[in-house]
Amino acid sequence: TSFVVTVSKVETDSGAGALLCFEDVTHLEQAGQMRRDFVANVSHELRTPLTALMGFIETLQGPAKDDAAATARFLGFMQSEAHRMERLVRDLLSLSRVEAEERVRPMDRVDLGKCIGSVLHSLRAVSDSAGVRIDLQQPETPVIVPGDFDLLTQVATNLIENAVKYGAQGKVVHVTLETTPHATELRGPAAILTVRDEGPGFDPLHIPRLTERFYRVDTHRSREMGGTGLGLAIVKHIVNRHRGRLRIASEPGKGAEFKVILPAGGRPG
Ligand code: ADP
Repeated sequence: TSFVVTVSKVETDSGAGALLCFEDVTHLEQAGQMRRDFVANVSHELRTPLTALMGFIETLQGPAKDDAAATARFLGFMQSEAHRMERLVRDLLSLSRVEAEERVRPMDRVDLGKCIGSVLHSLRAVSDSAGVRIDLQQPETPVIVPGDFDLLTQVATNLIENAVKYGAQGKVVHVTLETTPHATELRGPAAILTVRDEGPGFDPLHIPRLTERFYRVDTHRSREMGGTGLGLAIVKHIVNRHRGRLRIASEPGKGAEFKVILPAGGRPG
């Protein structure tokens, strides 16, 4: 804990005295430290692909100059490093956008089934090539919540993409959409999106930190899968903006489960 102490002289009826003011500035120090950590992390994440790109350029200008096969191979590597930087910048922009507007609650009428439908459509190629089957369970009537279609689609994308990426090959990702008249967490009606995989999961001790920016359970595997380490931080912020809750559960070897609980009450605009 950090305090700023100010001492001032005061005159009272019973004579002169001193006034001591203690101001708790712990939160300010913590915010400052978090900002510094974030900038250091971003710089590190950007520097890694940049260093690789510079190395490839040097090789192309030097030893591999007249070797067509090597040139083609190096250009492929360079493209994938450039894509990594592009994904990182895209996720950083998404994050800063949702953070900036966290107080504004979006109130469009969103059909969650449609969000999920569009995610499954755009992830088809990825899930097919990973040999993962996505099993969707949803009620017959549309599940509607007040919110922002694009943001909620991003939540579903990040969670389902993670389940496909980290879930073991050839297994099933279970996506469930349901409604409840009373969610204890929200003390009211809610829509619940659950994404569960049958992959390796993780030790529950990671759960409190999973939604921190750049926190990864397995950095090597995340990088290998093209992860930026920002997906769950973005999910958390979007869920907060919708006044919802994110629940995470996992055990090593038993897959992982991510549950998004969104208030279904309130008048969708
Ligand atoms: P990344 O871009 O690295 O996937 P995320 O913020 O989406 O970043 O996830 C943070 C970390 O949480 C990942 O690096 C991974 O270690 C872990 N993780 C997320 N989803 C799963 C999952 N379904 N199964 C196992 N680990 C997961």
